[in-house]
Formats: sequence, C-alpha cells, structure tokens
Amino acid sequence: MVRLIKKPFNAKYKDTMEKFTVILKSKMQELPNMAGVYLFYEGRNIIYIGKAINIKERVKNHFLQPTYKDNFFIEKVEKIGFINTESEIEALILEANLIKKHQPKFNQVWRDNKNYFYVVITKGPKPIVFIAHQRKNENAHYIGPYVEGTSLKKTLKYLRKVFPYYTSQKHPHNKCTWCHLGLCPGPMPDIDEYKKNLRKLVLILQGKRKTAFYALKKEMAVAAKAKDFEKAAAVRDRIHALEHIMGHAKVIEQRHVSPDQWQATQAIFESIINSRQSIQKIECYDISNIQGTLAVGSMVVFVNGSPDRSQYKKFRIRMENKPNDIAMLKEVLTRRLTHPEWSYPEVMLIDGGIAQLNIGIKAKNESLANTTAVDIARPVKNIKIISIAKGRQELFIEGKKNPIPLKNLPQEIYNLIKRLDDEAHRFAITYHKKLRKKYLLN
Ligand SMILES: [Zn+2]
Repeated sequence: MVRLIKKPFNAKYKDTMEKFTVILKSKMQELPNMAGVYLFYEGRNIIYIGKAINIKERVKNHFLQPTYKDNFFIEKVEKIGFINTESEIEALILEANLIKKHQPKFNQVWRDNKNYFYVVITKGPKPIVFIAHQRKNENAHYIGPYVEGTSLKKTLKYLRKVFPYYTSQKHPHNKCTWCHLGLCPGPMPDIDEYKKNLRKLVLILQGKRKTAFYALKKEMAVAAKAKDFEKAAAVRDRIHALEHIMGHAKVIEQRHVSPDQWQATQAIFESIINSRQSIQKIECYDISNIQGTLAVGSMVVFVNGSPDRSQYKKFRIRMENKPNDIAMLKEVLTRRLTHPEWSYPEVMLIDGGIAQLNIGIKAKNESLANTTAVDIARPVKNIKIISIAKGRQELFIEGKKNPIPLKNLPQEIYNLIKRLDDEAHRFAITYHKKLRKKYLLN
C-alpha cells in the first residue's frame, strides 16, 4: 500500500505533455482561440508562462494593453509557444508543471514563495488535504506550485466530489457536514481505498489524467470480474463525473477583456453614466471593518476593462473612534484625491448606495475647493461618481435623479460592475486577513 501511494508522488510528470508549438511574435494571429498555456521566449529562454481560457486573446492582450508588470518583459518577447489543453483544469495544471520546470524569470520576479500555492497531502495513516503557501512540513507531499489560488481552490473543490478527502485529522464519530455533501470519506473509511483515491487525485493534479482514468477503469474491471456489481457501478459513476469535471469545469478567472470587447463596453458605459470623457480608468472602493476595530478601505483599479493590480491601494482608516462607514469612506476618498501622481480615474465606483454617492460627490467638491492647480482641478472635476446598492440592486449615478435597477443594465455593463465590485471585495478581504493575523500576533 505504501508503495502504491508513494510512486506517483515522486514520479516526474511526463514530457509528452510538453509538445508545444512555437511561432514568431509577428505570427500572433495564428494562435488558437482555445484554452491552454502560452510561453514567451527571449531567444531560447522561456521568460514568462501563463494560462488562458483563450490563448490568442490573452496573448494579444499582453501586447496591446500591457499592464505595469507586462512592461518589464513584453518588449523582450521574440517567440511565443503554446499548447492547447482540453480543459481549463488541464491548463491550470500544465501551467504549474511548466513553471516549476522552467522557472521563467518574469514569473519569479513578481512572486516570492509566499504567493504561490501548493496542494499539501500529509503522510501517515490518515492523510489530509489542504492548500498552503510554503513547503514547511517535511512529513507531507507538496504538489505545485500553482500560480493562482482561486483557480486551484475551485479545481480541488470539484475533484473532492470524485475523490472525497479529509481536511482535518480528527473526524467525529458520526457523519460530518462534508460527509453529507459527499466530500468526506466518512467516520470509518477503508483506509486502503482512501489512499488509493488520494493517489488518483495526485495523478490528476500532476497532469497524468490518462493514468488516473486507466487506474479507475481497471478498478471497475476488477470489481466486475469479482461480481461486485455495486462497486463496479459506483466506479463507473465516478469515471463519468471525473470526465465531466475535467472537460467542463470553469476554473480560470477571466480577468482580461480583449480590446474589441472593451471598445464596445466602453461606449455603452459612457452613454449610460453620461461621462464627459472617454473612460479608461475606473476605481472601485470598499470599506470593511472587524467590529469597528480594524477598519480598512481598499481601492481596486481597472484599466480598459481589466484589473491592474499594480495600481491597487489600501488605506488604514486613521480617524479616531471610527464612527461609521460613511465617514470612513469620506476619509479614504479625500486622501485618494490628494494623490495626482496616481493619475485620476474617469469613474469612481463606490459600494453602498445613495448615501455613499453623496459623500463621494462631497469629497470631490471639497478637494476642488482646496486646490487652485488646474492640472488637479480639471481631472478631479471630471470624475464621474457612481454607487452600487447591492441590497436593492440599483446603480446610482452622479447627476441622475433616479437609480437604474441593475437588471435593466446591458449585460456587458452589469458584468463590468459586478467584476469591479467582486474584485474590490476580494482585495479588501485579503488585506483584512493579513491585518487581523498581525493584530492577533501582537
Ligand atoms: Zn465527514
């Protein structure tokens, strides 16, 4: 049994996965509109690796709308390699394996070890599975590193349905919540079976899908031969479930929109909010606090419809007593408006509703009253403030009397607002967790 579980952990992933096609940068139009992994070459060196739902669009996006990070390497790219994958999960896994193998310079530069993700499977009689940032425990197997936590979490969540696993050492005598969801092996599992399943999970995570399916099919055949038809049927169902997940699960977050997509969205957005200028930069604000003690404001930035993380900002609320969200929001906006060097946006989106909209307008007007510099006053004056009331599902727009029900917005605008809001929320929570950890440690 030990041998069974050990073998795939230590085995190297096969190079057969790495049949990628390499083309010149000038032939970018020939890239496929398919999910997969792409590699940027400078000479013969791979300098950056990424995954995408649509390789062609994503690669074009790097060049046409380079982010702050892209600017460090995009000029160096001479050739582009790519591999189509049959699914998003496979793109995620392949990206991880290729980054591990080639360690591209510009994947490394931006992420210290803390920012990568590993799937950890402990050794011992009853292994548990979880995600971690660092390889700390010698008594565990680490699979990865993976670049993106959200995609990895989604993938594991799907796979757990086929290969139920424990996430903590102690299991209650009765069925737990996870048991009822079919995600936990239960209080009294057959440990050999459990480890066999983990072994297949590992195979999938290492990109050896075929081997995993082969093992399952063999298991089904053995059960059928032993006339254990119930088990054979159960294994067959799992094969089908796994096939479905591997082919259809949507795990990669599409963070970037293509220039064509953005052009269309931009025009509609400008007319809806009655913007005086062409919208390129949108900032979105969120205030969060834990029982009023740790209040945090966060600002996320979208440029041409895609998040630009290099421009995100966090604000520790300075005011004493932290009276309410509205006052805290005003502090954040006022502080932000004193930073012309961050370049002003055309739109500020604030989470909340009418009160938040009004305080945004007030912060803007007060900033205007406090400056005589034309190069600050003009862009600040032109900022359009909008606010989303999630409870009532309405969008308030500066200068418009009545809010627009979100359901009446064109789909692309609804999606844009939703992506901005989700991203602000995600960013706020990440920062909050960090702060809370620090706070608890002190
Ligand atoms: Zn359980």
